[in-house]
Amino acid sequence: MVTTVFEPDVALALESEPDEVKRRVGIMGGTFNPIHNGHLIMAEQVHSQLGLDEILFIPNNIPPHIDTKTAIDGETRAHLIELAIADNPHFNLDRIELTKGGVSYSIETIAQLKQQHPDTEYYFIIGADEVAYLPKWHRIEELVTMVTFVAVKRTGFTQPSTYPVIWIDTPLVEISSTDLRQRIEQQRSIRYLVPVKVAEYIVKNGLYQDDKH
Ligand code: ATP
Repeated sequence: MVTTVFEPDVALALESEPDEVKRRVGIMGGTFNPIHNGHLIMAEQVHSQLGLDEILFIPNNIPPHIDTKTAIDGETRAHLIELAIADNPHFNLDRIELTKGGVSYSIETIAQLKQQHPDTEYYFIIGADEVAYLPKWHRIEELVTMVTFVAVKRTGFTQPSTYPVIWIDTPLVEISSTDLRQRIEQQRSIRYLVPVKVAEYIVKNGLYQDDKH
């Protein structure tokens, strides 16, 4: 019989290693049609308050809600995200859902991410409007076992969650992509509602100028 005897400090190191190497990553999923300062503020607050390693912005290809109007193409939405997050070293863009194509389901995205990075813990960041909508998410019962949901307050949405959620206290920011698209179409200012580079790109390329988006 072979008996392995570890020195106490080696045994301790082996025991504590898995926890130490676990990365904690926040997921900001959405249509980002377009990205705005509300998204950036909530992501930054969750990052700092939970001490996460990184926030991944994941634009969807086709959102699952059937009532969502057609968004501008995925690559343009992704490019606007790139412009918006370029100056923040712990924000990154992941094109995983655009590359995959089809309807984007968070459960499939998280399963794919977890397969690629088994040692990472994922924190799924959502606004209070999505908290109310969670029971309708595709395969939600599985998804809640794979991520920790983190929620941020949003004006007009106070419904308690059916699922465990960590609420993060952030300033209430009343910016929405819907409101931005209307402002652009009506030629009202979007200055300070989106990062400067995002506003410049939208104007230069005439995005959201008509009401079909
Ligand atoms: P739309 O107006 O087109 O529905 P949106 O502004 O809600 O868009 P999404 O891309 O759908 O933007 O949002 C991605 C995630 O960010 C969702 O979970 C949404 O609830 C959340 N979110 C967006 N804006 C805010 C905000 N101002 N405050 C809190 N959460 C927000």
